[in-house]
Amino acid sequence: MPNMAYINGRFMLLSQAKVSVEDRGFQFGDGVYELIRTYNGRLFQAEAHLERLLRSAMAIGLDGVYSQSRWMAILREIYKGSGFREAKLYIQLTRGVAPREHAFPLKSRPTVVVTARQLIPLPFALRRRGATVITVPDIRWGRCDIKSINLLPNIMARQKAKVQGAYEAIFIRDGLVTEGSSSNVFAVIKGWVVTPLKGPMILPGITREWVLQLAKEAGLRTAEKEIALQKLLAAEEVFLTGTTAEVLPVVKVDGRPIGNGKPGEATRLLYRRFQAHTGG
Ligand code: PMP
Repeated sequence: MPNMAYINGRFMLLSQAKVSVEDRGFQFGDGVYELIRTYNGRLFQAEAHLERLLRSAMAIGLDGVYSQSRWMAILREIYKGSGFREAKLYIQLTRGVAPREHAFPLKSRPTVVVTARQLIPLPFALRRRGATVITVPDIRWGRCDIKSINLLPNIMARQKAKVQGAYEAIFIRDGLVTEGSSSNVFAVIKGWVVTPLKGPMILPGITREWVLQLAKEAGLRTAEKEIALQKLLAAEEVFLTGTTAEVLPVVKVDGRPIGNGKPGEATRLLYRRFQAHTGG
């Protein structure tokens, strides 16, 4: 079964997909992206992802290029073409090809790239045991709500985690938790399920929104408010959310055990509810 690509109107094998070296995505990181996954052959929350793509694009002075229904048609077609049972569909939208000048080109056509690859779920052992994470200073810019393809601070943080044998790095800004390098952060504090407020310092995760909803439906008390690093370390439970992480327990932060060092009850409940909704 092939990895597939779509570039500006054409479907092809991923191995044959090419973009110009003068693409502003390559030269400047001048673009935005989304990652959508399937569950049991259905695109999960695709509309919400496409809405966020449009918001990200508009925030950098691009438009969404296609209508929602055209995007959906492309996503469905590339998924079908790939033949994978479960796939991850990556969308990247850049300001297109132009001679290298910082200011926007007067004329350029956005480059639309969509790829479909097989989705490999996180190892079950990681889910069962729970993840270890490290904290790192949040050195990112002031618009982390835009899903920009500029990910240097994120990849450097993740690499640091990997070298230390940890799964994820959590960013700390002014003593407060913002988010993970590719996930949102939740903590259970005095029985409340807490996650940092939406705003320019975090990506408004689709999974974050969904899990807040699930927590409310489960009768858990939820709060969107700041989490100081000290509160995170002393939390009863910590977990990550994201398209790939889903609801992933965290059992150690900076080498210190969270709660009893095992995945917590609320986390497990939310993961079960999440699975019930996705059929995952
Ligand atoms: N924050 C960052 C920085 C991310 O890259 C991601 C993954 N896209 C998330 C949060 C989680 O977002 P979502 O639930 O929409 O995948």
